[in-house]
Amino acid sequence: MAMTWLEPEYVYVDGVLKADTAVLVSATDGTGKIVSVGRRGHDAFPSLALPHRALLPGFVNAHSHAFQRGLRGWVQHAAPGVEDSFWTWREAMYALAQRLDPEAIEALSTLAFAEMLKAGFTTVGEFHYVHHQPDGTPYADRDELAMRVVHAARRVGMRIVLLRVAYERSGWHQEANPRQARFIDRHPDHVIASWERLRSHGIDVGVAPHSVRACSADWLRSLTRVPSIVHAHVDEQPAEVEQCLAENHKRPLEVFADAGLLTNRFTAVHLTHPDAHELALLHESHANVCACPTTELDLGDGFFPAWQVTTPVCIGTDSHASIDPFAEMRGLEWHSRAVLGRRNVTPHSGIDGLAAALIDRGTRNGMHALGLEGGTIHTGSPADMVAIDLRRVEFAASRVLPALVFNGSAAAVTDVWVGGRHVIKDGHIPGGEAIALEAERAIRRMAIHG
Ligand SMILES: [Zn+2]
Repeated sequence: MAMTWLEPEYVYVDGVLKADTAVLVSATDGTGKIVSVGRRGHDAFPSLALPHRALLPGFVNAHSHAFQRGLRGWVQHAAPGVEDSFWTWREAMYALAQRLDPEAIEALSTLAFAEMLKAGFTTVGEFHYVHHQPDGTPYADRDELAMRVVHAARRVGMRIVLLRVAYERSGWHQEANPRQARFIDRHPDHVIASWERLRSHGIDVGVAPHSVRACSADWLRSLTRVPSIVHAHVDEQPAEVEQCLAENHKRPLEVFADAGLLTNRFTAVHLTHPDAHELALLHESHANVCACPTTELDLGDGFFPAWQVTTPVCIGTDSHASIDPFAEMRGLEWHSRAVLGRRNVTPHSGIDGLAAALIDRGTRNGMHALGLEGGTIHTGSPADMVAIDLRRVEFAASRVLPALVFNGSAAAVTDVWVGGRHVIKDGHIPGGEAIALEAERAIRRMAIHG
């Protein structure tokens, strides 16, 4: 595969938009890296002109449950007489998870990943917890559903890290909920064996104890044997914290720390209800936090106190109530403003500094949390990039970089490259109509919404 130059109007490098800068990509087949950033050399390599475009590193969606894309639009109303909450939403999500067959999981995942790519996400951390048949019996190939999700990402050209979820139980002193049978493994060794098999297929894979609700301290200790990144839902809802205190006499992040999982390879997802000691543990461990602002708004989870943490923060679209990296990046800052009654609270310096800090959260911090190199436009990084159309009316007469973050949207992304492969061209994904049709057929075939 030949090397190719990309020649946009601006390239985002180290917090600033640079003009007169081109990017040389080593290959266009998905394995490409960035081999030069600077003035175009005198060589015979082909070049792609990108007038009026800003080239940014690809965004990283560090927390996704792709199949939940099947809830889009169906959970935005309350049943008569019901006070709706995270917990009633969860029942609707379980009803969906219960019905999906492998083909439907693959179709919905393909749709979710296609929408992510079009929005400018080039990498996804898929927190995958539907493992078995509806009654809990493993599939003949125990990794059937994980492989379906991986195939979905490969079909559209998205980089994926599969976060293989460990799920032991419904909760402490709680009756087994049959709707969770598909998630549950009988022993942590089964989780570890699955992690090893997936890795042996060349897949980037991490381990993900679902939460302290779903995993006991014993299970968490067993999972320290897995030499990989660890992601977990932490402190998402007050009821989860209360149950954890009743069982362990400790708060959720303290339980992860006691088990030996809280290191700089750990990512706490949500962290919407931490106390001061949990924040201190986070600081000491240099663990990551993945905030999912639009899902946290949608589910009424609360706000992650980004202004109180010093460790790397990244973003995820979680339930896919919305798939838009710009909404997540600015959501972090706007949540902080709403809570504190102040403005421009993310630490920064200079006119573009706050926007750059938020872009870091949307790009390289996500790659770091997923155990990958990159997330920057630097020599040696994977050639994962997005082009944004600066001719759009929302960017006119503006300071460009802050306007990209605070006024950008998925619709402003025109082109996307993953490993140098040009996966979105002029806002279109190849085969996009067929992907949408397959997902619609799957929803109808499974009679998911009645
Ligand atoms: Zn989640």
